[in-house]
Amino acid sequence: MTSRCCSVCGSQCADVEGNKCGSCHAVYYCSGACRDEDWIRVGDLAAHSHCLLCHRLQTYMGLEGELANLPFSFANETTKSDFLVDPFLQKQGLLNQGAWVVERMGIMQDPYTAAKRVGSFNEDCIVLPVESTTLDDPITQTAGTPSSWADYYSLRGFQLDSPIAILLHWPLTVFHIIQHRVHIDYPELGSITERKLIVVDIIGVSLETELLPLFRELSALLPMCEFDIHMYGAEVPWCRDGLVYKQGRLSIKVVRGLYHKVVSHDRKTTVAIAFHVGLYVFKTWKKTLDKLQSANIPTYFTEYGHKTYEDSRSAAEGMGFKHMSEPAINPFRSPLRIYQSATCLPWYRNAILFCLKNS
Ligand SMILES: [Zn+2]
Ligand SMILES: [Zn+2]
Repeated sequence: MTSRCCSVCGSQCADVEGNKCGSCHAVYYCSGACRDEDWIRVGDLAAHSHCLLCHRLQTYMGLEGELANLPFSFANETTKSDFLVDPFLQKQGLLNQGAWVVERMGIMQDPYTAAKRVGSFNEDCIVLPVESTTLDDPITQTAGTPSSWADYYSLRGFQLDSPIAILLHWPLTVFHIIQHRVHIDYPELGSITERKLIVVDIIGVSLETELLPLFRELSALLPMCEFDIHMYGAEVPWCRDGLVYKQGRLSIKVVRGLYHKVVSHDRKTTVAIAFHVGLYVFKTWKKTLDKLQSANIPTYFTEYGHKTYEDSRSAAEGMGFKHMSEPAINPFRSPLRIYQSATCLPWYRNAILFCLKNS
């Protein structure tokens, strides 16, 4: 049973369908009074007046079907606007199990607020589901590289009822950027997968540092490449600062601190990626983006949905970065729709991809 809250006063909405905005169908109100208050806001909130947003939200709601278009047998359930993660994981026998704990925590928190978790590196956290044994096998099939979940599942021999995509959207998003995006968005670089060493900086991490073994899948998909990945985050717990995870041709180092302050000067980064970047949340992004742009590093971002993409883009413009690319729907987004109590915009983890262009 899901509950909805008024997007103005936060109180519980009784008649859920009857209390949505009649035009965009994206936000909930407890009463006509709250709806009227939101329509034209005054003072500092004037720019957030719903009359200015409604049309955009209507457009984003129109993309609901496209975002829900995933091949999994469970997708009908997991892409509904009232989808709740716990009953689903419970049914799958995954609630409170291994890496699923970490992913669930990320889904449950309000995506606007960064994860705040202090803990020590715990080997228990990296227990993977049954498919992980298959993941240790090298990929022998040589035909093509996967460009969708359906391709990937068939390459790996997973059934479409396997929930492993819920964890693998992290490494597969990195793979997709390296394999399918960089040569299009930064044609001057050519195909980076022909390089022997790929140096990746993942910026602004929090819980991702507990999912390091998942990134092994990058080496399986790109067996000719060696990976040197650094993950940076101001919220990385002290006890994980400097942690190194090595597996075959993959090496990941966790670094606590703001990227522009801690990245070493001689690092030859091939590509930088920030998951769920939220450029509108932290002012420190300006210095990080300055650093990446002055070093000519291809830089990719993900967002939960088109609304947060627009918010990040306008924040970037406000910081002087005028050349953000258009949003692209990530084929390797998480199949779990994120439940939000006051809106029903279609949000998924790593749903939208975009990049910082030089001109
Ligand atoms: Zn209200
Ligand atoms: Zn509306």
